[in-house]
Amino acid sequence: MLILLDRDGVLNEDRSDFVKSPDELVILPGAAEAVARLKKAGHEIAIVTNQSCIGRGIITGDILDSIHRKLLSAIREKGGDIDAIYIAPDAPWEASENRKPGAGMLLQAMERFRKSPKQAILIGDALRDLQAAQKAGCHRVLVQTGKGRKTQKEGLPHGLMPVSVARDLDEAVTFVEEGRFAA
Ligand SMILES: [Mg+2]
Repeated sequence: MLILLDRDGVLNEDRSDFVKSPDELVILPGAAEAVARLKKAGHEIAIVTNQSCIGRGIITGDILDSIHRKLLSAIREKGGDIDAIYIAPDAPWEASENRKPGAGMLLQAMERFRKSPKQAILIGDALRDLQAAQKAGCHRVLVQTGKGRKTQKEGLPHGLMPVSVARDLDEAVTFVEEGRFAA
């Protein structure tokens, strides 16, 4: 399967003022280990992340790279890896189809890894993650970390169903292991 991971609120703590430096990147408990489990099971893993902090001029691409180097090294330390990172740098007022809820990043990843929608699972904490997954036609899991509880509490539109709800990335990976999303 192709596992499409939202970043903030799934792998690391979500910050309303954006992760602006490696120091502000705080990996969620068990997240790196969960990625390692996915990798060991042979899944392909791509991060699909909106980073409007670039389009808003808050951080540069170089700083984002350094943040991702820290994220990757934390994941590799636990024996995991990420196969690709897709970034939508668009500011909300000039959003392309890549910025979620657009499906652009998901479709690019599915094409690159030659996976059909039924072979792809998006794991995210925000409504727009689920909307992007629905547009791409892939499976969707809402984690309760980050914005997840708030997203759940606000109610998920019926059109987005089915959505599986997991406590965190660790439990979402258990869903994957149990084959709940097998095509
Ligand atoms: Mg998020």
